[in-house]
Amino acid sequence: MNKSLPVVALVGRPNVGKSTLFNWLTQSRDALVADYPGLTRDRHYGRCRRGAREFLVVDTGGVADTVEAVDQAALRQVEQALEEADLILFLVDAREGLTAADEDIAARLRRLDKPVVLVINKIDGEDPALAAAEFSVLGFAEPVMIAAAHGRGTAKLLARIEALLPPAPQSTTEADGDEAIRVAVIGRPNVGKSTLVNRLLGEERVVVADHPGTTRDAIEIPFERDGHRYVLIDTAGIRRRARVEEAVEKFSIIKAIQSMEQADVVVFLIDASEGVTDQDARLLGMVLEAGKALILGLNKWDGLSREQKQKVRDQLEARLQFVDFAEKLPLSALHGTGVGDLFDRVAPLYEQAQAEFGTSELTRILQDAVDSYPPPLAGGRRIKLKFAHQGGKKPPLIVIHGNQTEKVPASYRRYLNRAFREALGIKGTPLRLEFRSSA
Ligand code: GDP
Ligand code: GDP
Repeated sequence: MNKSLPVVALVGRPNVGKSTLFNWLTQSRDALVADYPGLTRDRHYGRCRRGAREFLVVDTGGVADTVEAVDQAALRQVEQALEEADLILFLVDAREGLTAADEDIAARLRRLDKPVVLVINKIDGEDPALAAAEFSVLGFAEPVMIAAAHGRGTAKLLARIEALLPPAPQSTTEADGDEAIRVAVIGRPNVGKSTLVNRLLGEERVVVADHPGTTRDAIEIPFERDGHRYVLIDTAGIRRRARVEEAVEKFSIIKAIQSMEQADVVVFLIDASEGVTDQDARLLGMVLEAGKALILGLNKWDGLSREQKQKVRDQLEARLQFVDFAEKLPLSALHGTGVGDLFDRVAPLYEQAQAEFGTSELTRILQDAVDSYPPPLAGGRRIKLKFAHQGGKKPPLIVIHGNQTEKVPASYRRYLNRAFREALGIKGTPLRLEFRSSA
């Protein structure tokens, strides 16, 4: 399935409330965070699951700051966010009123030729009619009034966003008949993505289709390997790049997220010669939130000393605990060592992500787990967990029924997550638990 994630960018001068709104929009409904301790969240990129349609939210942060104040890489990401956005939310501050910086941003946004919604924030304690009149000079019709800090007006804003997003695209590959496994190779610049992809597609046993497909967001390269059909999702043009020898990669976090979104299995590369970086952790946080089956490739393993190898392993444990379910494979894309092994794991992983489990099996596992370690008391009454059924696939979702389930503490959720994972032999894919109270 080709599921593209629309992009909504938050723009505005400092202190108008962008990060407050970002936090409201990206607050997760499911307790994913509790189930995966240490999950690294990105402060600028997140997904909104609050409404009917899921979308990516980008807080452009310093868009209005002076150029010299922001580092060039950050500035480039802001430019790209504006370029790749489907919709822009332009935030202003009702308390402060109209400023010259607001007018500068308005002028710039008009040149972009994209849908823009003017969002007047901090309307708490202000007169909405006056605020609307004051900001009307910016030239954006129908502003939405909110108080992001109090969640006021946000439902209306969500409805407006959903109405303005482009329609969900249709899949291009489903017409092909039986399903191919969709794979994305993700990682920050220079970790070896294009070296790996070209090494893989150059393998003797791989047959690459003549005509790659294209969608709005990605080049799709179909190939066959050992009787399995795959589609490589290449949003960043990593294959083409190695042929053309482009000097600098225009790394786009949005494109990386779009890639993982469209994939069944994510191959995530880390440059082992550099170790685990903050950006690695944040990108991996996005992979987990997308719920994708995951393999971690520790690339550039060639030429590492024993100390360096140990250091990487220590870092993985300390900083990437939230993806401890994923297999970590040392490899050298440059020399080809480990590349075959890595791709041998993709098809089994895909099978796992869409495995089906029966209600009686899941309920038995639940009862065993509860018997050996009962849930705690809540308000003097014991939390009761009665039965479990499968609520979804890719990733597996297990729905647990009982009473007072909203009081199940995070530590107990993690205990159950581990118990199901072990009993079902689930590896390499996140496992989601959802609780429902029947009483
Ligand atoms: P950013 O720089 O645009 O990301 O702005 P922040 O989200 O950091 O918010 C700046 C300040 O405005 C913080 O002190 C927030 O608590 C405050 N703020 C944000 N939203 C509201 C709101 O709806 N009402 C009021 N009164 N204050 C708000
Ligand atoms: P990308 O930006 O993630 O696509 O990275 P590239 O594939 O362009 O690789 C970046 C650099 O790392 C290039 O100079 C590659 O030759 C080098 N490189 C890639 N894989 C390996 C590897 O396994 N070992 C070593 N030593 N270098 C590698």
